[in-house]
Amino acid sequence: MFRHCKPLLLLALFFGLCTAAYAFDAEQATQAWLATQSTADRLRSDAYFEGGYWLLLVDLVWALAFAWFFMGLGASARLRDRIARFTRRRWLADMLYIAGYVIALTVISLPLNLWEGYFREHNYGLSNQSLGQWFTEGATSLVVAVVFMAPLAALIWAAVRRSPRHWWLWGSAISTVFLAISIAVVPVFVAPLFNDYKPLPDSPIRSQILSMARANGVPATEVYEFDASRQSTRISANVSGLFGTERVSLNDNLLKRTTPAEVRAVMGHEIGHYTLNHGIKLIIGFGLISVAGFAFIRRASQWALTRYGARWRVQEMGDIAVAPVVVAAFTLFMTVITPLTNTMVRSIEQEADYFGLNAAREPDAFARVALRLSEYRKINPSRVEEIIFFDHPSGATRIRTAMRWKAEHLDENTASAPPSPH
Ligand SMILES: [Zn+2]
Repeated sequence: MFRHCKPLLLLALFFGLCTAAYAFDAEQATQAWLATQSTADRLRSDAYFEGGYWLLLVDLVWALAFAWFFMGLGASARLRDRIARFTRRRWLADMLYIAGYVIALTVISLPLNLWEGYFREHNYGLSNQSLGQWFTEGATSLVVAVVFMAPLAALIWAAVRRSPRHWWLWGSAISTVFLAISIAVVPVFVAPLFNDYKPLPDSPIRSQILSMARANGVPATEVYEFDASRQSTRISANVSGLFGTERVSLNDNLLKRTTPAEVRAVMGHEIGHYTLNHGIKLIIGFGLISVAGFAFIRRASQWALTRYGARWRVQEMGDIAVAPVVVAAFTLFMTVITPLTNTMVRSIEQEADYFGLNAAREPDAFARVALRLSEYRKINPSRVEEIIFFDHPSGATRIRTAMRWKAEHLDENTASAPPSPH
């Protein structure tokens, strides 16, 4: 019976092949986009990004070594004792200790930070900063860190002393609330310390962004532009704020270096973060992780105190001088769970990518942006590599997402997009 069908089958196959030859193939289109990155550019961004894998390890070893010496040389106990001469108020003493500790850590880490944050960035052509600017911003960051961390630590250690058995649960709750507060105040009090934010002047692109925002439930009346070119050559945009301080900002590199279609593609993604409540979701995710984190910190610090407490002259958890051990345990925990936190963030980034494609309808412009972002992010990693080290989808994943979207919307008008590479 099948023999009789053979001519029909051949006919069907022929037509099938003909249509296939003219149809848009998402995977082919993806490969064509990927091929537009030159070998030299790919090697450079791969080297930069893969270097970051090692920095994770370097930073961890550094954090552990610093804690070991700060405790072992008796610096922590001495700092505590000196502060005790000034004040008997526990909360004030704790805050002063944290200020002293953060300053000591920053000063001693200066060579490492200088190499990671200044020389390495310049070597890869990603930084626009002068050394003086780098130092000024470093000093500002230090002040901000002390202002945030001193009260946070004072509250956590108050919980340790009041509730020796359950302080780790309190610690997790306090840090989560602090995280939410800091996200809310960053756009108003912190971001302006580093960059100038101004409303985008009236222009077609501003109207298009606001229209897309309104269509997706974002009550924005302004879009902000900030001078990120002061620090770096990277293009980026973000949604920041919480509890009424939310704002959509895009950086001047994005405006200067890309087409309006690319700006729309990026803003579709950012609006996605807002509409899908990614801020709140991340805070909840962090809250859950921090419960496990504090449980680990408690065990690790207790173990270290039992073993070395006498030598360090720090005997109990309620003593703020154990803080360097807590920070080291926290760094160890966060490094080990990097694949989990990265996957959490990368998943919501992927969601925002889908949202942005549906909102902006600019698959080719989105692919072009993904290529530009691959100036500092390895474009085509292995799957395992992406799961472990990527907090955003790789360029290849993003281009593939865009081309699949395009393949399903071929009959629609996306004519404003720049032509695809083939
Ligand atoms: Zn994003």
